[in-house]
Amino acid sequence: MPQRIVCKECNEVLYQGDLLKSPQDVIKKFEGKCPICGKDLSFETDAVSVKPCETKKTRQ
Ligand SMILES: [Zn+2]
Repeated sequence: MPQRIVCKECNEVLYQGDLLKSPQDVIKKFEGKCPICGKDLSFETDAVSVKPCETKKTRQ
């Protein structure tokens, strides 16, 4: 399932795609900062959230 990684500060989508990436890789790609709001992403591992692109229905 495609995933996306978003900045928790501004909700900017930092990565979206089919490949499962670790937040650390994405944070590294942006040199530790959110390109939009400038939040220091490497400071806290909790700075980004990984979400599935589509919500899957688990309840029936
Ligand atoms: Zn941000």
